[in-house]
Amino acid sequence: MRTAICPGSFDPVTRGHLNIIERGAQRFDRVIVLVMVNPAKIPCFSAEERADFLCRVTAHIPNVQVDVSTGLLAEYARRVGAGTIIKGLRAVTDFEFEFQQALTNKKLNPELETMFVITDPEYMYLSSSMVRQVAGFGGDVTDFLPEEICEDVVKRLAEKAEQRSGVQ
Ligand code: ADP
Repeated sequence: MRTAICPGSFDPVTRGHLNIIERGAQRFDRVIVLVMVNPAKIPCFSAEERADFLCRVTAHIPNVQVDVSTGLLAEYARRVGAGTIIKGLRAVTDFEFEFQQALTNKKLNPELETMFVITDPEYMYLSSSMVRQVAGFGGDVTDFLPEEICEDVVKRLAEKAEQRSGVQ
């Protein structure tokens, strides 16, 4: 069985991510969408919330599974028998970071290949941080988020913004 991993923060998952996951799932027997817990990044949504959103938006793709990892991607891939990492590329600006990551993962696990999928042009501008920012100002994010989670994400972002303003 050919297994690929699609790793990321998914904070939250956007239509751009979903497009990459769907295209990956057409080419592999199994795709594991992996929520990476990075201690250097403080996420807006917890790993459980991010995984829950991902489960809901990928429910229609039978060969996609969602998981959370707090460790090294190269080790996770070895453990589950995955030979490929799928990463989406939006612009040249993504490339330098992704290139460094791919070479590091290859060094840590020489069996592991990284494949880059070029974004569909309509999602080129789209990132989770942009969604959080627009929603934070009350803007309409329905075109950016998968339908299944849009209402919940907007509600949760508003609650979080309220909690933050209550703390200050
Ligand atoms: P973000 O930069 O949105 O926080 P993540 O860290 O969750 O994204 O990224 C996971 C992967 O998804 C990365 O390979 C990233 O380049 C890719 N990705 C994110 N947004 C898009 C998009 N709009 N189109 C294609 N790939 C994307």
